[in-house]
Amino acid sequence: MSNHDVARAWVEVDLPALRRNYQTIERTVGPGVAIIVMAKADGYGLGAARVVRALEPLAPWGYGVATTEEGIALRQAGVRRPILVCEPLPPASVAAAADAGLTACISHLSQLERWAGAAAQRPGGLDFHIEIDTGMGRCGLDWRKTSEWGPVVRGHSGKELRWTGVFTHFHSADTVDDSGSLTQWARFGDALGQLPVSREELLVHAANSAAALRFGASRADAVRPGIFLYGGDPIPDIAQEAAPRVEPAVALRSRIILVREVPPGTTVGYGATYTAQGWERWATLGIGYGDGVPRSLSNRGVALVRGRRVPMVGRISMDLVVVNLTGITDAEVGDIATLIGRDGAEEITLEEMAARAGTINHEILTGLTPRLPRVVLGVGGSGGDGGQ
Ligand SMILES: *Cc1c(COP(=O)(O)O)cnc(C)c1O
Repeated sequence: MSNHDVARAWVEVDLPALRRNYQTIERTVGPGVAIIVMAKADGYGLGAARVVRALEPLAPWGYGVATTEEGIALRQAGVRRPILVCEPLPPASVAAAADAGLTACISHLSQLERWAGAAAQRPGGLDFHIEIDTGMGRCGLDWRKTSEWGPVVRGHSGKELRWTGVFTHFHSADTVDDSGSLTQWARFGDALGQLPVSREELLVHAANSAAALRFGASRADAVRPGIFLYGGDPIPDIAQEAAPRVEPAVALRSRIILVREVPPGTTVGYGATYTAQGWERWATLGIGYGDGVPRSLSNRGVALVRGRRVPMVGRISMDLVVVNLTGITDAEVGDIATLIGRDGAEEITLEEMAARAGTINHEILTGLTPRLPRVVLGVGGSGGDGGQ
């Protein structure tokens, strides 16, 4: 019996689609460009361990995470490749990151000193990449001051503390206007030209999914895709006849747990924000914001029932959502309602849900909570999933 025989709601994870999306990125950036799979936030909600098990046979260069704990989890899942912790390491987690042989991304010289201290204690030493801030403003060393910090970083690096990479991050790769990305690329190129090491010694990387689709690797050695692998369109606001297509890798489903005919004047949900106009047929779904359905979908969301679109009515509760089934007479308790994905000829894309909720697909995926079992499609064969 699989999870979705008994669960009230679940996430379907399509591992073959994940692998095909990876291969699409590979084709798009072309041969010789390395791929760093961004697997932070539990593999964007799909499950980091199963994501790496599915992608390991495709031989990515390595993985990117945000935290030491996420990096350790990938080591525990058996990853031997480089794992970049893309966020600055809090000082208290440096020792654990070093023990797991993670690669620190350095945004400040004080961090490099701490990483050097850890490298001196670790047989085999440690690697680090330097992040260059070219306009994102969150972390990274200032591109304008490369001639100051460059020699200091070079001075620290050696056999035990190996400087193996340098990168930047685009802030507007998903917008129609590409001038922001071009400016950032120019600054990055400028900084690279001032580094006191030859470019060949370093893995140079910049592009997230949106940038990889639009600009390829941007003359770098590697790309860092996330959302595209997990089935999200990274550039939903850009017309893209020619762009490679992403294949959905996630569906979100729940069950109808109650169906009622309600008389005119009946209200629904906290705040009673919706009132039945005439006799209406409502279905209560066993899913809510405690599962990751954004509360902003209140009176704006849609679901698919028996292949037809039905509107969400009233506020989303923590555990429940009500949809208006009026006109659909054959739906009953136990039926599956689709919040993301396909049902018959109809489909609600991740991007449609995100747009209705006023957010981006990244936030929807990473917001799916552990309460939802992950039902894995494409299990078995090489790179299959080891279970929950
Ligand atoms: C999350 C992240 C990415 C991936 O971004 P997507 O838009 O999901 O492709 C790339 N680089 C860094 C530094 C990130 O934090």
